[in-house]
Amino acid sequence: MNISVKRHILYIFLGFIFISFTSSFVIIEIKSEVPNPENPENKPEFFHNKSITDGPYIFYENEEIIVRWIKWNRLVERIISGKNSKLLKRNFGFEIDPYYLKNGFPDSVNYNQTYNGVDKFAAISDIHGQYDLFVQLLKNHKIIDSHLNWIYGKGHLVILGDIMDRGDKVTELLWLTYKLEKQAEKEGGKVHYMVGNHELMVLNNDIRYIHEKYTSTAHKMNIVYSQLFAKNTFFGQWLRTKPAIITINDVLFVHAGISAEFISNGISIEQTNRLFHQKILGKSWDVILKDPLCAFLVDKNGPVWHRGYFESTIKEFQIEYILKYFKTRHVIIGHTSMPNIISLFENKIIGIDSNIKEGNYGEILIYINGEFHRGTSNGNLMKLEQINTNAIGN
Ligand code: ZN
Repeated sequence: MNISVKRHILYIFLGFIFISFTSSFVIIEIKSEVPNPENPENKPEFFHNKSITDGPYIFYENEEIIVRWIKWNRLVERIISGKNSKLLKRNFGFEIDPYYLKNGFPDSVNYNQTYNGVDKFAAISDIHGQYDLFVQLLKNHKIIDSHLNWIYGKGHLVILGDIMDRGDKVTELLWLTYKLEKQAEKEGGKVHYMVGNHELMVLNNDIRYIHEKYTSTAHKMNIVYSQLFAKNTFFGQWLRTKPAIITINDVLFVHAGISAEFISNGISIEQTNRLFHQKILGKSWDVILKDPLCAFLVDKNGPVWHRGYFESTIKEFQIEYILKYFKTRHVIIGHTSMPNIISLFENKIIGIDSNIKEGNYGEILIYINGEFHRGTSNGNLMKLEQINTNAIGN
């Protein structure tokens, strides 16, 4: 074979490769020009042109601990194993108690959430993804320091439900809450993250109120948002242990309120928390609604939805009846948004949903030296006094 024939064969070969490459490019181009609407890849995404970072989310799958997060719009997936045990620390700057990572959360939790002899506590509600305002309130009231570490000693911080939904920094809030929970425990203090109607909704796959960012996160993981909080996830197991009603000293905390029906059903705090844990959180609606008591607890007169205290027809003797039933002197609630923390019936009812969800202003209730105060976002304290105001939404 002479040189010119060899060269000729080489050109044919190169030409063939060139044609194969360009034709495959053409095919790709045609694909992208005619998107198939049935293909989930082609669903419109709110953050399509923005860079999302979200996570981490921890999954227990087939005896493995898998961490997934979104970094600059891309899904990252890693397995936590012996040699990779510092993965969370390296990527996110925090660690999780290895016991919980390995074993998950216990199946039985303390349902009787009663705490006495607490000198100081703070309570905040309906944060709805507004991480920055939450951090500002906690920093300015010396509950956390500038590095977001617990400095509240033996104080108790009550987060009265509805961290989830609406805003776009829910994941950050959940991790910070988890971190503070662990730090407070070491100091003899306590963080109580309580269930609101929005935690209930997300865990039970009602995701009407999630921010578009989280639709995107779930889409990139090829799941629906609630699956980030399923029983086989770290968040899911942790959230399923959260109570619906607690008492601290002579104060009862509940996300929305205690209705007359709650009392006529003769339900206790212990029973409510047990049912939320065992039969409500993360369960299917069909199963929940079959049990009349569970159906009541998730309904409009149940503790995470009731709004009766803000109706003009409510009378003081009805409130006193509720206080007597629980042997407490105050009921603290969130769920119904007001411009600031409000007191009804001389602090018998204190509404602390100060509309943080809008992200502009919010307050935290501070209890110290036997008195309640409105803690403003710039760190001021105002003694809580009864004012008349109207709800501005929910
Ligand atoms: Zn609510």
